[in-house]
Amino acid sequence: MKKKQFKTESKKLLDMMINSIYTNREIFLRELISNASDAIDKRYFRSLTEPESGLNRDEYEIFIKTDKDAGTLTVSDNGCGMTAEELENNLGTIAKSGSLDFKNENSSDNVDIIGQFGVGFYSAFMVADRVTVTSKVYGADTAYRWESEGVDGYTLEPCEKDTVGTEIVLHIKPDTEEEDYCEFLEQYTVQRLVKKYSDFIHHPIRMDFETEKPVEGEEGKTEKVIERRTLNSMTPVWKKQPAEVTEEEYKSFYSQKYYDYEAPLKVIHYRQEGAVEYTAMLFIPSHAPIDYYSKNYEKGLTLYSSGVMIMERCADALPDYFSFVKGVIDSSDISLNISRETLQQDHQLKTIAKAVEKKIKSELLKLMEADREKYETFYKAFGSQLKFGVYSDYGMHKDQLKDLVMFITSNEMKYSTLKEYIDRMPSEQKAIYYACGDTPEKAMRLPQAAAVKAKGYELLLLTEDVDEFTLQTLMSYDDKKFVNVATDELDLTTEEESKKLKEENESEKELLDFIKESAGGLNSVKFSASLGDHPAALSSEGGMSIEMAKVLSKMPEADGSLAASLVLEINSGHPVTAKIKELFASDKDKCAKYCKLLGAQARLLSGLEIDDPEEFTRLVSELMV
Ligand code: ADP
Repeated sequence: MKKKQFKTESKKLLDMMINSIYTNREIFLRELISNASDAIDKRYFRSLTEPESGLNRDEYEIFIKTDKDAGTLTVSDNGCGMTAEELENNLGTIAKSGSLDFKNENSSDNVDIIGQFGVGFYSAFMVADRVTVTSKVYGADTAYRWESEGVDGYTLEPCEKDTVGTEIVLHIKPDTEEEDYCEFLEQYTVQRLVKKYSDFIHHPIRMDFETEKPVEGEEGKTEKVIERRTLNSMTPVWKKQPAEVTEEEYKSFYSQKYYDYEAPLKVIHYRQEGAVEYTAMLFIPSHAPIDYYSKNYEKGLTLYSSGVMIMERCADALPDYFSFVKGVIDSSDISLNISRETLQQDHQLKTIAKAVEKKIKSELLKLMEADREKYETFYKAFGSQLKFGVYSDYGMHKDQLKDLVMFITSNEMKYSTLKEYIDRMPSEQKAIYYACGDTPEKAMRLPQAAAVKAKGYELLLLTEDVDEFTLQTLMSYDDKKFVNVATDELDLTTEEESKKLKEENESEKELLDFIKESAGGLNSVKFSASLGDHPAALSSEGGMSIEMAKVLSKMPEADGSLAASLVLEINSGHPVTAKIKELFASDKDKCAKYCKLLGAQARLLSGLEIDDPEEFTRLVSELMV
């Protein structure tokens, strides 16, 4: 029979499996069982509208058989089965789900990918040198057999099979000097692996055991009997009382289901009684999945209706800003027959989603109180998502989220919530001050930041693109306005100082105009009293801050129209200013050069590029000789 070829991606994965670069081979069984369980769910689900296609609920099972003589391990199910076309598409092509993106040929990275996503059906090739899949769907006249010995391809042909479902026969590899494959032909190995990886699978996983039993009525005589045992405990973890679930159980459920081998940071498991009844078991991961901040990431909770899965990933169950939460919701109030479309409109689901959201928020606040270190770990992984949540949807959710966000502050360079900041504020402080930079240290280096600190005020130090947009959306906290120190909103000067500055600005108008012309790219130039020991610094006026303009100019649709109106602030008491004043009277040429340098310095301090680096270096060199 002619062999068909695997798709390229599949071939690569298969090759990895066969060469077993992944050491945790035993997971193959978990993968096959989980496919079998999904197939049973699918058949059951279909039978709700097409009763004749299904079985009685208690007839569904996954059956495992080992045969030492033949060297085979067989996993069969009475699930939905696969047509010839499905066998071809599902087993000939991997990564349809998009979860396996083979960007990297590097083997150590591949190991990582496997750890993150699981590997599905092909993992069978880690332990088998030939895999035979026989499958039949409801209503079909014939079954089909798919068989492959690995990368060379596979065959597909019609065959006989009485029952609907799938049977997968693994021809287990012979032992090698380093590897013991035959252990997978031992019943106790299978038993152990089912317990370890698939205990919560909600269909029975069964195996026949041969035992000796005393023959009734005949003293001392025994006979061999076959006993069919269920290997998994089946009760889904979330159905148990939270107090009865061990940490290990949560962890094993979580890692199997979400392919994250690091324990979750927090488990939220509770049962809600009342108007709507549901059980939720939610996990907050301890780190962001590698695709979390990308378009590929799909949020959602798995929905069950009385223990039967109705939707694998229900996005409507979670708001975007809590998209990192994983878990299940089980509710008898959600109808089993509900379709994806009607689910979106479903009143019960909406009520549950609202309640779940509230619960997540209160649990996060509790965590913040009870275990600050853990909360900070969480925040480092998912804080950006929360801040983005404040800003998105025109700030609709800001009240929900404002107490969960934190920023590094200037006091101890540690995270602080807005409330904590407010609580520390001296009574005369009018606003919440913040400075932006690539790092907290850089933000602190802004002359205006130093001036605010010198006044005895604390600053929030903003380092992420989303940060300032978040604060702009919040506008104020506890009636205190947020003020970017590098804008015209900073107002630390006393009335007297302001008057003096105003007079100075007026009397030196000619000089200021000259500086503006010479330095270039400025909206205005003025004297300031908030620069500490720096001669000059940039600020902005009119709403668009320097940092916001930077962020917006990075956006793909940026057209350059979103620039900040730059103000060059000059420290009137600084010797450099005195020098410029002097040159303005005696040597305009040289004065113009100094103004250029001053403007360029201020741009560098704000993390902006200078327009003409060549000229800048030439001017600095002139000063050096
Ligand atoms: P995944 O389960 O991640 O989609 P797999 O490689 O494990 O990837 O399986 C590919 C597909 O083959 C499954 O999505 C499913 O449609 C089908 N499949 C696998 N095993 C079975 C089975 N026992 N019964 C029916 N369909 C199956």
